[in-house]
Amino acid sequence: MVGAGPAGCAISLLIARAGIEVTLLEAAPSLSSPFRGEALMPSGFAALERLGLSSLPTTVPQRSLKGWRLLVEGQSLLEVPEPLDPGPACTLVAQEELLATLLEQASESPCFKRRQGVRVTGLRRQGARIGGVTLDHGASLAADLVVACDGRASMLRGQAGLPLQLAPPQHEVLWFLLAAEAVAEIRDWLEGTFLTVLGAGNGFALFETAANQNLRLGWLCRPGDDLDLTPGEWLERLAQTCTAPLAPWLRQLPTTALQGPLRVPIQVGLAKRWHQDGFLLLGDGAHPLSPVRAQGLNMALRDAVVAAEELVPALRQGGGHTLDAALPEIERRRHPELRRIQTLQSAEFSSGELLRSQGWLRQLLAAQPNLFRPLMTQIWLGRQRQLRQGLPLGSSPGGP
Ligand SMILES: Cc1cc2nc3c(=O)[nH]c(=O)nc-3n(C[C@H](O)[C@H](O)[C@H](O)COP(=O)(O)OP(=O)(O)OC[C@H]3O[C@@H](n4cnc5c(N)ncnc54)[C@H](O)[C@@H]3O)c2cc1C
Repeated sequence: MVGAGPAGCAISLLIARAGIEVTLLEAAPSLSSPFRGEALMPSGFAALERLGLSSLPTTVPQRSLKGWRLLVEGQSLLEVPEPLDPGPACTLVAQEELLATLLEQASESPCFKRRQGVRVTGLRRQGARIGGVTLDHGASLAADLVVACDGRASMLRGQAGLPLQLAPPQHEVLWFLLAAEAVAEIRDWLEGTFLTVLGAGNGFALFETAANQNLRLGWLCRPGDDLDLTPGEWLERLAQTCTAPLAPWLRQLPTTALQGPLRVPIQVGLAKRWHQDGFLLLGDGAHPLSPVRAQGLNMALRDAVVAAEELVPALRQGGGHTLDAALPEIERRRHPELRRIQTLQSAEFSSGELLRSQGWLRQLLAAQPNLFRPLMTQIWLGRQRQLRQGLPLGSSPGGP
């Protein structure tokens, strides 16, 4: 397995637990990263249940969302409490600790080996088949199967000749962190909800993180935006997007309370083919997703569950051609859900973009919030329910 993100850690656990030897190679020296996907949806909880984690251990910092709110020109046009339906609420989790939990469980199997701080530099071929990877410093490792879980910029995807079909470019997100000690009033006012703010032609999302009581703020960039701002200028720009009570609170914040931005370009795509003989692509590498309604963590876990169900019986039968024959089934089972998620995310993005860019529309909605709130809620719920549940995971009769 290449890459210790959610896809790589989850599939390593499932394969090792089935008593099959697996080596996980990760380039970074540790699991910590500045910021990665935090939102677990019911679809992600369903995958975790298949991983044997029907409830998250308390060592994983976590916080259930209390609901979703949308403010347009200062008027509330959506207020939906969590959970939307019977079942788990959307929950923010600290990804580093979640990954550590998966790896801790994988380590209980003598079949699991982890090599942290080892970069994979390429694929090793044995005839027509991919038969392992090359590593830093000229070393190499042979394998019956290489599973590339190396993220959205996957180098191995290119090496295996599996191009992405790219969706039209979307805007970028700039992520900021607001320090816990400076934002008590804003945090109390948020009451654990995920807030989206649209106003004055701009927009941002604001929510409390899983741990530390910091607030995370995602600012949607437009092409040509001047992003070279000081923290004070950013706070003023944020304040101009909203109204009281949020605007004055933002203006009063000390500039040291604002950390960032971390710039995350959005590239959305889907690899038409996820496999070659001896090679499989999973997670963001196979389907970089938009950040809209936070699906990446969930989809990566679900890829791993489906892949393990198909791979374990084939690996037990000895790999080779049996293994290669199992690979198309993984892609076949995962493609419909990914296509649907990307279509829904794109529709959600377009609606938000329409509202953000059309001042007259925002003014119309904000002039009569009581009239438009039921319609906005109905449209939002229709998409959100499909996004958060995913399609039935299904199962393979021979799976683990
Ligand atoms: C800022 C940000 C915010 C996000 N917010 C959310 C959210 O709220 N909810 C959500 O569901 N998703 C979110 N996502 C997306 C989510 O984090 C990803 O979809 C998810 O982590 C994908 O998992 P993955 O295992 O496919 O890849 P990744 O998590 O990207 O892991 C890939 C791993 O491969 C390693 N690697 C890469 N190349 C090599 C190599 N050559 N050799 C060895 N190792 C290598 C990398 O170091 C990395 O650890 C966010 C992403 C970002 C960047």
